[in-house]
Amino acid sequence: MEINEIKGNTFCIDTGMTYIPFYKINDKDIIMLDSGWEKGERAGIDELLEKNNFKVVAIICSHAHIDHIGNNAYLKKKYNCIIAMPAYEALVCSSTVNLKVYYSSQTLSDVTEHFGHMVCETDIMILDNQDKIYVCGIKFKIMHTPGHSPAHICITTPDDVAYLGDALISDEVMEGAKMAYAFILREDLKSKIKLYDLKCSKYVVAHKGMYNDITKLITDNINFYKKRAEIVYAVIDGAMTMEDILKAIIKRFNINVNSRYRYTVIEKMLRSYVEYLNEMGIIELNMDDGFLKYSKSLSDI
Ligand SMILES: [Zn+2]
Repeated sequence: MEINEIKGNTFCIDTGMTYIPFYKINDKDIIMLDSGWEKGERAGIDELLEKNNFKVVAIICSHAHIDHIGNNAYLKKKYNCIIAMPAYEALVCSSTVNLKVYYSSQTLSDVTEHFGHMVCETDIMILDNQDKIYVCGIKFKIMHTPGHSPAHICITTPDDVAYLGDALISDEVMEGAKMAYAFILREDLKSKIKLYDLKCSKYVVAHKGMYNDITKLITDNINFYKKRAEIVYAVIDGAMTMEDILKAIIKRFNINVNSRYRYTVIEKMLRSYVEYLNEMGIIELNMDDGFLKYSKSLSDI
């Protein structure tokens, strides 16, 4: 784990798996953009912060996913820092019952066991109509990019460095990924198009890249997600239930599903592609002898 300079007072922690940007207010006080993953990153982040004598005074979060807010509660307790987050994401992680709204296919006990550490109190709720926030008197610009999660945001520091969170994935991730996650793919694609208008001097993608220009990356991301939707379309043969499609996709991508937890992750991932194809009118959903089944529409993809 190491610290990379980006521009001016904006730096980032390279955890190996992700970039976690932070803004230095002075030699000691920093504002983090996301707090990382508990399981694989907490110990390293903790050590790095202590080694550099940093005090986390605030965390601005892009969205409430486990690998982005996994250390919020821990760091808040340790440094008594302020947490700012889009309002809906803040509500999702305000209790285990609210987390279950998002992880609805798991029991409350499972949600508590796997995601309970994500529960934290948010001090500043970022509303949908806000294009900037002041944290510790410092202005950060906000671009709302829903889709990957319900209220995902991109955050630009005073150094004109944009942190894109998971609104885009890097070339390396695209090369290695079988599928990529979106909560609502149609909205996510709209947000990716919106990013063409974001003009900053540097861009940081959480998993994991640093760019001076993202024009090509946006186009490649859109094509990557659309290609996955085409593959999902291609495995639909006749009328299939969601589970039939899931089975076909697991086979098509040779995905190793070795736990209940993994199954729900893959199922959630697939759902957004199926819903996207359905919303675009490419596949249709009908009742078939008491079961909901998807089949190809007459119009082609
Ligand atoms: Zn995410």
